[in-house]
Order: sequence, then C-alpha cells, then structure tokens
Amino acid sequence: MSEDSRPNLYLVPTPIGNLKDITLRAIEVLKQADVILAEDTRTSGKLLKHLEISRPLQSYHIFNEHKTVEKLVQRMKAGEYFALISDAGTPAISDPGFLLVREVLQAGLDVQCLPGPTAFVPALVNSGLPNDRFVFEGFLPHKKGRKTRIEGLMEEVRTMIFYESTHRIQKTLEQFAEAFGPERQACVSRELTKLHEENARGTLAELIDYYQTHPIKGEIVLVVAGKNPKSD
Ligand code: SAM
Repeated sequence: MSEDSRPNLYLVPTPIGNLKDITLRAIEVLKQADVILAEDTRTSGKLLKHLEISRPLQSYHIFNEHKTVEKLVQRMKAGEYFALISDAGTPAISDPGFLLVREVLQAGLDVQCLPGPTAFVPALVNSGLPNDRFVFEGFLPHKKGRKTRIEGLMEEVRTMIFYESTHRIQKTLEQFAEAFGPERQACVSRELTKLHEENARGTLAELIDYYQTHPIKGEIVLVVAGKNPKSD
C-alpha cells in the first residue's frame, strides 16, 4: 500500500470471536493508521495488544459520533489517516460508522471498507436457507414500531436475517411464528467462530420448543426463510 494512495478512512473488520479471523491486510492498515477510532477503547485495546499494534486510540461510539464527525473530517482534510473498528465484526453493520462514512464522502474524501468478519454472512450460509437473495434486518426495535416491522415482513419472499439478544429470542420466535406461521423454517446461529458455536435449524415451532429446554447463552443471529411464493 503506497502511503499517498491511502484512503482517508478505512473501516477495518475485527474478529467476532475467534482471534485468528483478523486478515493480514487489516493488521497492516491498523499498523499504518495515524489514529484508530474504536467503539470501546478498552475492548479494542486488548485486541490491538494481542496483535502487537500500538497506535493512538480515540473513542468513537453512538453517544459521541454526532459531536465528533465534523472534527474528524477536518483532521482528515489536514492529512491524518484514520481506521475505524468496532467491538466485533464490520464497523457500520449494526454498529457506529455510517454517519462518518457519509460525512467523509460528502467532504470529497475517500473511504474504504476492508472485507472481513461479520456475523450475518456465516449465519446465512450455515442456515442452509436460500442465499441467492436475502434481506438484512439487523436488530428489530424493542418496543415502538416492532409489530409494524414484523408485519411488514409477512409477504417477504427472501431469506431474512436478524440480530437478536438471547433474552429476547424466545419472544421473537413466538412473534415470528404468529406472523409467518409456525412451520416456517429458521436457524439460530449462536457463538459463531467461538468454542461453543451452534447452528440450530428447524421450524419456528421446533425452535421455540428447543429453547424452552435449552437455555440460550451468548450472541445470536436468527435467519428465517422467506414466504414460499407459491403459498397464499
Ligand atoms: N458489526 C457486527 C457485525 O459485523 O456482525 C455486529 C455488531 S452488533 C452490535 C452485535 C450483534 O451481532 C450481536 O448481538 C449478534 O446478534 C451478532 N453477533 C456478533 N458476533 C456474533 C457471534 N460470534 N455469533 C453470533 N452472533 C454474533
């Protein structure tokens, strides 16, 4: 990578569990950044220490992004090179980043997102559900707007991907069974890339039953088949 052709901002994916999932290029970019913007400097500090990367760290998270974006763009214009990382996976995917990318581009500067770990891709592929077309729904709203979002997906024929927390999964499966029917196929991917990775596949009704007797821990992605276009 020649120093002159570097984009002003790199988005660098970091492991979602297994530390070996960092790419050689991610390490190179992080080593060359003037400043690493991190969602949580303590969490990222541990990863960077493990990778023997010692660069200035600055916090960048949903609570300060609106305030800091403009200043960061000014610093990029002045010639500083930044790398943005989140706690895990690809920044800006259900994580802070979008706002900064938009402002950097609007300022006529350059952005590049490296390919790398993200939870939804392995979950989709592991599910065994059609993956030629899919929709990424991220986190559903907890309260306001939740029902409308689910109802809006009743006619969706593409495979749907959701990020969910373990304490809400049972409720979500039940709401999905009500909206999409209990026989709809789905897959719950838990602890991807980690020691206790598990991909539980079955109908929504089977998964509801399974989690009644198997308390679920860790991080999860829920993948749900789309509506069969041949059914009414
Ligand atoms: N930026 C991340 C990405 O690229 O996937 C997502 C960040 S979001 C705040 C965190 C959510 O991602 C978790 O609640 C879970 O739904 C999902 N997730 C992250 N790591 C995971 C893992 N190892 N196994 C299953 N799901 C995971």
